[in-house]
Amino acid sequence: MSDYNWCHGPRCHERHTTTRVRGVKGSKVLRTIKINVSGQYPQGVYKYFCDQTCMHDFFWKHVQEFVALHPRTECLETPIEDPKKVQNQYGWVHTEIKAVDNA
Ligand SMILES: [Zn+2]
Repeated sequence: MSDYNWCHGPRCHERHTTTRVRGVKGSKVLRTIKINVSGQYPQGVYKYFCDQTCMHDFFWKHVQEFVALHPRTECLETPIEDPKKVQNQYGWVHTEIKAVDNA
């Protein structure tokens, strides 16, 4: 098992940052970021993406595939108590919405 992942951002290797410059003088390239996942490895999605830009690029490129894999064919609902107007100590009024406690 490898101890790194290549960033999955579809345009990671096209972004103009010094952290992507590799190669010898006269033969430089912009290379996909290598993410170290051993030891103090990044958690969650950042095991696969070097930053939010690459994560968003990946999402926008593949969103139709995600939706096809995980379709939502009906709405979801969370039971709530009747909303109440509440005034805080500074006089601001907001609408308090509480989920029904199903404990
Ligand atoms: Zn990247």
